[in-house]
Amino acid sequence: MSASVINIEAGRLSSATWLASPNFNERPKGMSIDTIVIHNISLPPDDFGGLDSNGLHYVKALFTNQLDWNAHSYFKTIEGAEVSAHLLIERNGAVTQFVSFDKRAWHAGKSSYLGRPECNDYSIGIELEGSDFQAFTDEQYTVLADIIAAIYHAYPKTRRHLTGHSDIAPGRKTDPGEYFDWVRLRETINQNSKR
Ligand SMILES: [Zn+2]
Repeated sequence: MSASVINIEAGRLSSATWLASPNFNERPKGMSIDTIVIHNISLPPDDFGGLDSNGLHYVKALFTNQLDWNAHSYFKTIEGAEVSAHLLIERNGAVTQFVSFDKRAWHAGKSSYLGRPECNDYSIGIELEGSDFQAFTDEQYTVLADIIAAIYHAYPKTRRHLTGHSDIAPGRKTDPGEYFDWVRLRETINQNSKR
């Protein structure tokens, strides 16, 4: 079996469903993409797969500024948020891309990695539908590892910097959380690179 049928062209992942977010801007001129940031998100927290009245997944609604803040009491607490990520991986492994990898998605917020501020400038943000209190699915690990391999190929400098939101915004963010198995992810990436 070939390493992966996934590829990246013009900043887009071939295996993802494209759903454009308005929440992005240009990366600073000359800035290279060298970091991957893993997150978890669920709306409301710990609840997976919720759909709005139009049948749109709540997280996809949030990232495209379509979330109805009145649909749940939790949504009120984030009312007005303008956020995005490059990718969302749902519990069943379905992948949606909201922002070209070549553009700056708004996933990290105030952050710093290895002394460099503004992680959004130089990173790719990947959201797993999940929470700090539940295990992630087998499908998510498999798909995430395949995607990271494709990112490594397209943006080789990212090979050195795979991190989590809690590591770049300590004290402010806790995701992807203790249930996220970094060892499993790294082993799956390594196995894939050998097949
Ligand atoms: Zn996060």
